[in-house]
Amino acid sequence: MSQNAPEKSKWLVVGGGMAGLTLAHRLSQRGQEVSVCEAAPSFGGLTSACSLGDVVWDRFYHVTLLSDSHLRGLLNELDLEHEIRWVTTKTGFFSGGRLYSMSNSWEFLNFPPLTLIEKLRLGGTIFYTSKLRNWRRLEQIHVADFLKRLSGKGTFEKIWLPLLRAKLGETYQKASAAFIWSYISRMYKARRSGIKTEMFGYVPGGYARIIDRFVETLRGNGVRLLSSHGVQSITQCEAGGLDVDFGAGRIERFDNVISTIPSPIISQHCPELTEDEHQRLQGVEYIGVVCASMLLSESISPYYVTNITDDWVPLTAVIEMSTIVDRKELGGHALVYLPKYLPDSDLGLQEPDAEIQDRFLSTLEKMYSHFSRDHVKAFQISRAKHVMALPTIDYSQKLPPIVTSLPGFYALNGAHITKGNLNVNETIDLADEKLNDVVWPDFLVRATK
Ligand SMILES: Cc1cc2nc3c(=O)[nH]c(=O)nc-3n(C[C@H](O)[C@H](O)[C@H](O)COP(=O)(O)OP(=O)(O)OC[C@H]3O[C@@H](n4cnc5c(N)ncnc54)[C@H](O)[C@@H]3O)c2cc1C
Repeated sequence: MSQNAPEKSKWLVVGGGMAGLTLAHRLSQRGQEVSVCEAAPSFGGLTSACSLGDVVWDRFYHVTLLSDSHLRGLLNELDLEHEIRWVTTKTGFFSGGRLYSMSNSWEFLNFPPLTLIEKLRLGGTIFYTSKLRNWRRLEQIHVADFLKRLSGKGTFEKIWLPLLRAKLGETYQKASAAFIWSYISRMYKARRSGIKTEMFGYVPGGYARIIDRFVETLRGNGVRLLSSHGVQSITQCEAGGLDVDFGAGRIERFDNVISTIPSPIISQHCPELTEDEHQRLQGVEYIGVVCASMLLSESISPYYVTNITDDWVPLTAVIEMSTIVDRKELGGHALVYLPKYLPDSDLGLQEPDAEIQDRFLSTLEKMYSHFSRDHVKAFQISRAKHVMALPTIDYSQKLPPIVTSLPGFYALNGAHITKGNLNVNETIDLADEKLNDVVWPDFLVRATK
């Protein structure tokens, strides 16, 4: 298929996260006239940074896997791939009020909360699931049924159920087995073989540096970058094209618009879509997150991730980023994230910062006897309502269309990741694949009419 359109066309990409920036990059490489608009004052979306005292680092924790070939390819284009620092990490488990290391086969076999049979069933479930290829069949099975059947009641209740609740809240009851399949597949790839060591990587400077380089590259290629430009509405214009209203009287016409923002918001912006399109867009249920990040004078644990199986702990996990990131980048401090995932309708997403901070810190005091609030040198809460679409039963059949009923308007976002877990690698793959296979062919047909 020809990569070149019959003539240069005017495109707007809505949303300046990794999906929007990747789409803008590819369209400009095809000789198109491209603008990207972002509601926030800076680009990056979920990968954007926050300040913790003098340290600027990702507001949500991010690591790259050796197997993240699409992300590594993009970083290569941005001349950053060779700078990735790869680090071997360890995993911990907080279970029954105690902390265990679970970083190799020996530790796994010695993990006290499970009997030998339960361990074998857990190991068997992970191995078997990582080998499955037919994810569409898994979309028809509830994740809880799938895991109970493979792992047995004991392992399900002691390990899987608390982990599912931690990651999805009570909405785990609606999730399909495709969720755990994509999660296990990604984590399995992170380990070089079986239950052995994990290698995670990061670019010095974190995502702030990646986004700065990306924005600079796009600008150098003639892409127009509009921050603090939140879209209010998109309507069809009689003379052809789409009118985009940015509020405060700023309206601009584009030949094509690709929106990468969360599906329910796309529906709100586009009143002229069909009833079926509105229903599908609004029908996508999201998981959000409240995530604390803090700089500490002392480390909490040697584990990058500590999974938690105790119900009383109001955290999904404890992430010690400074087991990967060089402390020199962090003013000599330890950097710890405390995420709690919640359904997008959960009122916990609106809880005041001070209450969250107090609860999270008193939880750490109970979990780690050596932890003291005096160790906290900077503390910040970040929230996101739309992090990941919940993979419900038959999810891929209910997805909103990418090519919409409005000529030239495309709705393409993370909700279209059907066979993977939400992460930057999948986001880039999705943008590349759907631009090639769906958006561009439709555009060519329209442009040559
Ligand atoms: C806690 C957490 C941990 C994570 N850990 C990892 C990890 O370790 N590794 C990994 O690879 N990935 C990780 N991810 C996932 C990764 O951050 C996402 O996959 C990726 O950033 C999604 O990019 P996106 O462009 O699709 O969405 P977003 O980043 O959400 O971008 C959408 C953009 O649209 C903008 N927008 C919204 N409304 C409008 C509007 N009306 N007008 C204009 N713009 C608008 C938003 O401000 C936002 O910038 C993590 C995410 C979270 C939350």
